[in-house]
Amino acid sequence: MKNEKNKNRKLTTASGKPYVENENTLSAGARGPLLLQDFILHEKMAHFNRERIPERVVHAKGSGAFGTFTVTHDISQYTKAKLFNQIGKQTNVFLRFSTVGGEKGSADTERDPRGFALKFYTEDGNWDLVGNNTPVFFIKDPKKFSDFIHTQKRDPRTNCKNPTMMWDFWSLNPESLHQVMILMSDRGTPYSYRHMNGYGSHTFSMINAENEMVWVKFHFKTLQGIKNFTGDAATDMKGQDPDFAQRDLVEAIDRKEFPKWALKIQVMTQEQAKAFPFNPFDLTKVWPHGDFPLIDVGILELNKIPKNYFADVEQAAFAPAHVVDGIGYSPDKMLQGRLLSYPDAHRYRLGANYEQIPVNKCPFMVNNYERDGAMAVNGNGEDSPNYFPNSFDDIYTDESYKEPPVQLDSLVADWYDRNGPGDNDHYTQPGLLFNKAMNDYDRHNLVENIVNAMKGISGEKKDMIIMRQLCHFFRADMKLGMAVATGLEVDMKTVTDKLKHS
Ligand code: NDP
Repeated sequence: MKNEKNKNRKLTTASGKPYVENENTLSAGARGPLLLQDFILHEKMAHFNRERIPERVVHAKGSGAFGTFTVTHDISQYTKAKLFNQIGKQTNVFLRFSTVGGEKGSADTERDPRGFALKFYTEDGNWDLVGNNTPVFFIKDPKKFSDFIHTQKRDPRTNCKNPTMMWDFWSLNPESLHQVMILMSDRGTPYSYRHMNGYGSHTFSMINAENEMVWVKFHFKTLQGIKNFTGDAATDMKGQDPDFAQRDLVEAIDRKEFPKWALKIQVMTQEQAKAFPFNPFDLTKVWPHGDFPLIDVGILELNKIPKNYFADVEQAAFAPAHVVDGIGYSPDKMLQGRLLSYPDAHRYRLGANYEQIPVNKCPFMVNNYERDGAMAVNGNGEDSPNYFPNSFDDIYTDESYKEPPVQLDSLVADWYDRNGPGDNDHYTQPGLLFNKAMNDYDRHNLVENIVNAMKGISGEKKDMIIMRQLCHFFRADMKLGMAVATGLEVDMKTVTDKLKHS
């Protein structure tokens, strides 16, 4: 810890009154009682009582760093976003990594997806790409999100993590299989934040200077190489150093080993989207690289640890709704849900003026008529008008930022059993993951991790949950189903008979 700023400075209260001394409360006589008038005691105790802000309900444990993004390839044929408009152009960024399910004090090496939330401070406003270290997610409709997360948190009675809840939910939601398999592979326990990929995960759009739109996915490939803990090594590390990933990031940057990722995009035209065998906006699916090759864009580098963790990492607020000109949303239902829920979470956790906090602040011009609210610390518009339109300002809306219209041809409905072709195929891509992307070592560890995790299922519904989940593994790949069943010592005939008679 450094204290250069505190050389020869008086200790004062928050209102600037110098302390006479700081360790003894005013008292009636040397042995007390204390005097109510010692307001410095109140100030210290009252501020201490308010040090904690609400913990993020997901992604509570995190680490962050500042850095830069540098354009290495021209993608202006796809986007007019100014941050991409010149090779060599640099944009400042802040990146927050996290685990998902655990509390703020939980271990960094838990088996969990990792958050990969990136804020680009661009001249056209802040762009937040709020992704994970996996290209897919457990569910494809945001109405399921709170139910899903409850299964990853604590059992309402025991207050312990409960594998029965998790596997019950996953087995009842086959769309989760793809993400469950990635989670159960060694990529579910990355060695450090430096050694994993990041993905925007959702489908977004890009709009070029001619106002033509394509669909796009973002991939950040680690240049440190993929490195994972095995299940056992991750468990050991939880005991040895629960803050392993935080320490690794800080120490690497302190050593000037600045971690880097190559940003690449996949691009899909409107016509290709119509012909794609799956819904291209389904967050449980990837776009095959063979059909949609990765296109180089630039290099992300992290090179500065925040001076104060709370100020920048704990108060960082990312929102997928924050896009910039040239980048837009897509009909991805999970993205649509997150457009609402992220800013809502920040207003609850940090207050209505969370974008005035330095780490969240757009360093370029911000003009609007939002006023007041707790912690309005940016001058609050001073004495200028607080309504629009008015006859005094010279502030205008800019039509040149208008996005092209999107054609809809849908009926309003809950589309539960009316999905299009491929929408209920939850098995082809997990099968490809197992057969094509993984090698023998990956497959061995995947099966071992699944078996160890499923051994935690207990209670009267145990056989039913195991059977249901096994069916999903069998449908993805017979060898996978068989290996998990063998590992769990499942007598298939007995379980099937039991289920028939239950
Ligand atoms: P490719 O062979 O072109 O790509 C396979 C991808 O799988 C690579 O990006 C690789 O990442 C990644 N991968 C390797 N091992 C794992 C693992 N244990 N967990 C997660 N990802 C892993 O195949 P396709 O594009 O045809 O996709 C085949 C399957 O690969 C998909 O069904 C999907 O499950 C998986 N995948 C596909 C991605 C995509 O965007 N197309 C992205 C990630 C996974 P890396 O190069 O970093 O090693």
